Amino acid sequence: MTDTPTHCPYCALQCGMSLGGDAAEPGGPLRVTPREDVPANRGGLCQKGWTAAEMLTVPDRLTSPLMRASRDAPLEPCTWDQAVDRVVSEITRLQGAYGPDAVAVFGGGGLTNEKAYQLGKFARIALRTSQIDYNGRFCMSSAAAASGRAFGMDRGLPGPITDLGRADAVLLAGGNVAETMPPFMRHLTDLQRAGGALIVVDPRRTTTARQADLHLQPTPGTDLALANGLLHLAVSEGLLDEDYLAERTGGFEAVRTVVNAYWPDRVERITGVPVPHMREAVRLLARGERSYVLTARGAEQHARGTDMVTAFINLALALGLPGRPGSGYGCLTGQGNGQGGREHGQKADQLPGYRRIDDPAARAHVAAVWGVDPADLPGPGRSAYELLSALGTPDGPKAMLLFGSNPVVSAPRASAVEERLDALDFLAVADFVPSETARRADVVLPTAQWAEESGTMTNLEGRVLRRRQAVRPPAGVRTDLQILAVLADRLQAPGTWSEEPAEVFEELREASAGGPADYSGITYERIEKEGGVFWPCPAEDHPGTPRPFLDRFATPDGRARFTPVEHRGAAEDVDPDYPVYLTTGRVLAQYQSGAQTRRVRPLVDAAPEPFVELHPDLAERLGIAEGAGVRVASRRGAATVRARLTDAIRQDTVFIPFHWAGEGRANLLTNPALDPMSRMPEFKVCAVRLEPVLTP
Ligand code: SF4
Repeated sequence: MTDTPTHCPYCALQCGMSLGGDAAEPGGPLRVTPREDVPANRGGLCQKGWTAAEMLTVPDRLTSPLMRASRDAPLEPCTWDQAVDRVVSEITRLQGAYGPDAVAVFGGGGLTNEKAYQLGKFARIALRTSQIDYNGRFCMSSAAAASGRAFGMDRGLPGPITDLGRADAVLLAGGNVAETMPPFMRHLTDLQRAGGALIVVDPRRTTTARQADLHLQPTPGTDLALANGLLHLAVSEGLLDEDYLAERTGGFEAVRTVVNAYWPDRVERITGVPVPHMREAVRLLARGERSYVLTARGAEQHARGTDMVTAFINLALALGLPGRPGSGYGCLTGQGNGQGGREHGQKADQLPGYRRIDDPAARAHVAAVWGVDPADLPGPGRSAYELLSALGTPDGPKAMLLFGSNPVVSAPRASAVEERLDALDFLAVADFVPSETARRADVVLPTAQWAEESGTMTNLEGRVLRRRQAVRPPAGVRTDLQILAVLADRLQAPGTWSEEPAEVFEELREASAGGPADYSGITYERIEKEGGVFWPCPAEDHPGTPRPFLDRFATPDGRARFTPVEHRGAAEDVDPDYPVYLTTGRVLAQYQSGAQTRRVRPLVDAAPEPFVELHPDLAERLGIAEGAGVRVASRRGAATVRARLTDAIRQDTVFIPFHWAGEGRANLLTNPALDPMSRMPEFKVCAVRLEPVLTP
């Protein structure tokens, strides 16, 4: 078997790797080799990437559809015809009784561009439902909303990832890339070796923070105050780029007025970050021409996440960074296709090409490509958590089709999500393993996975990449595109429903043409030849856009927009009953809900169970020893995990990674308070209390 160049199945860095081995048959040995020719990883992989081939042969791989006769009956193997008949008959029955919105669709940020596109189209014209959203809403939606507000468009990093290594400074707020995407650190190491400064904002002294030149360790939920405080210092120290403000932005005076009140000593009281550290951070950021302000989930997964990100964007704009080569504001997307997954119509409020679904021109364009009347396209639906919360309620959907997601583990207030899923009349899940969500389904459709099919992914740079098929899928499974095609056919949907990724991509190009995320000039051949193409790319002879905004921002007047934002704190603060902040996040050897990585033996060995990280002084006060069982309770539930003591975390804060199911599930505790713009839940801060238990 010759090596097949492709990309890692996991995170948004989309590291290049080749898959090879002695057999092209399912179950044959496969060898992973990192690729040197992919700039994102340059020959590096993390533990997850090195072991990615093991996902193809996990023992509980689904190879037959499953169905249960009634809600209390067990899931039993069935034929594809039986499974499809049941899905179609339930859709028809429930939509006949309650209307099109009786059926919801839930997608995922790991789906290829082709699947994300086809899923959105399936919802809108095969089911005619407005009720579609996806798990990316839980990922970077606050950064997307804030970038849209400031720049008129959102596109991950503002340039090729290799630009980072040549920058003067990078401020990274709320990202632990040394664990979530380790090869990313190569670019930050390049930066430091060349004399640049790395500043990390994180309540924990993470692996990334330990490598930083400066670590700002704020109280969870206070990042907005910190960013406003940094901007206050930039103003008072005369570090603003006045020419840039005048020529390329609008609205700064209102922001200046707001940040005037963020005196350094006041910000230190709110955030706990010492004034000299703030002063040093802003001086480092402003000392050169090329600096970056980057945010990740720690600054985004908040009930005021859009404003929090906006505060960091305001800082970047005031220093004149966005729209300059080799500098700017960027968001580090998390899921494998976190960028592309949000561009092609899985979001409740969007059509392909990153178009708004309530824009008449966008509706007319996409409807013409799909061969339907624009008036027949549904309007915006519910956002992910609102959709999950509405399942089985009198006004909510009665059935759901779910692809590539595991909300039983990844959604906030997970026990309530379980209740809503169980209240449905019908749940169908397409997945390649029996995830915790799949186990609650009435029908499970076994799917092909990453190396068994082809398609495109858009990485965190905005670079569109080819994921190639390396092995044949096992007998008995189908690709998501095949499943959607057969369902569309049985539902007598208008339009064409190809099972071939290349053909779906051709239609996606057409549907995205003229939109903010314009893929019309991108072809599989170009991606192959050029090693990826950056969107927007409006013509085949267009070079793509590695660095958007160099001449103008995507706003009506071409200027970036400042928005004044005020610190208001987290939706839930600590009190005598729940006196400690909880923040959640990720560890190196696991990925997202763990549905994949909890099945890979070396990753399980490296990270076998959830834990709560707490400061030794807090542990002593509570009588909790290293390795002891701890019951962590919030107003929404309780989780039992093992204690891990470390002075790398603040004394008022504990941390639990969210990758596990069962009684250690972090999302039993989290607060689903939603950001008013992005509808992002507040995963990153809630109030808890801790008690020792005898056995974890
Ligand atoms: Fe895969 Fe991300 Fe690890 Fe790269 S950093 S090998 S893309 S999980």
